[in-house]
Amino acid sequence: MTPAERLRELSIRHAAFAWLDRQRAAGKESFSQEDTSGLHLAGETTRLMPTQQGIWKPRHLSAALSFRTVYRPEGTDRPYDDAVGADGLYRYKMRGDDPHHSQNRALREAMMERLPLIWWLGVQGGGYSALYPIYLVGEERDDLQFVVDIDAVPQPDIEWPSIELEMDPSYRQQLTKIRLHQRPFRAAVLRAYRTSCAVCAFRHSDLLDAAHIHEDGAGGLPVVTNGLTLCKIHHAAYDRRILGITPDYEVRVNADVLREVDGPMLRHGIQDFHSKQLMVVPERRAQQPDRELLEARYRVFLNAS
Ligand SMILES: [Zn+2]
Repeated sequence: MTPAERLRELSIRHAAFAWLDRQRAAGKESFSQEDTSGLHLAGETTRLMPTQQGIWKPRHLSAALSFRTVYRPEGTDRPYDDAVGADGLYRYKMRGDDPHHSQNRALREAMMERLPLIWWLGVQGGGYSALYPIYLVGEERDDLQFVVDIDAVPQPDIEWPSIELEMDPSYRQQLTKIRLHQRPFRAAVLRAYRTSCAVCAFRHSDLLDAAHIHEDGAGGLPVVTNGLTLCKIHHAAYDRRILGITPDYEVRVNADVLREVDGPMLRHGIQDFHSKQLMVVPERRAQQPDRELLEARYRVFLNAS
């Protein structure tokens, strides 16, 4: 792809994201195909959603612009079973069983060129919510699937004049306000913590949660900086104020619990972590837990102690 082609790809994508931003700012959360057709973006008339297929590449682009997952109630089979891997990243199934199908090639092109895409997620009651910008960061050809990173930050080494739009933190914050189910939050948080409990580094993903610092029910946003990957025990202990985390990422145990005498789980699983630093914190500063949110939550812990 030449620099001019890439710029064109990016211009249309950013125009699409800006259009979606405006729609969402006006309160629109779910979109139909009609809503997203006949748009004038960066000098082209285009639509943003596939019609019948799962993958959409407009004629005037050389890489896919979006892909789609249909809504299915819990417990029923999806035609394409998109799942989260042990690394906390999503998988999106290729079309059919030929990795070289033109639609799969269009997705691969977006992956190779590190172009941002839109992921349309079917919502209950019809329509689709948009998750963007997302990136394809790998493919698993044997399993006929792409690896999706919904929390990737554009690579700074790429010279794209319009990329600042994505780097703007408020922009990223906005995109997470979208009312999706919680699964993307979980995937992003688990990935940021390398699928390990922040307190004890336990790594069995079935027993890990994406915990909120500012609690979900109290208006906490589903963003990585408001999240902690915690094992089931430490999540429950954090929610019950048995365990607190200071703004300096240090673990504290409730004074009464610290004095209790019980079995090895209490001693090794809880008490031994008192005054220890978190064992796992995201490498990227932009993903590390927000110190102000931690402080507010830590005060609640102190009041309960
Ligand atoms: Zn743990």
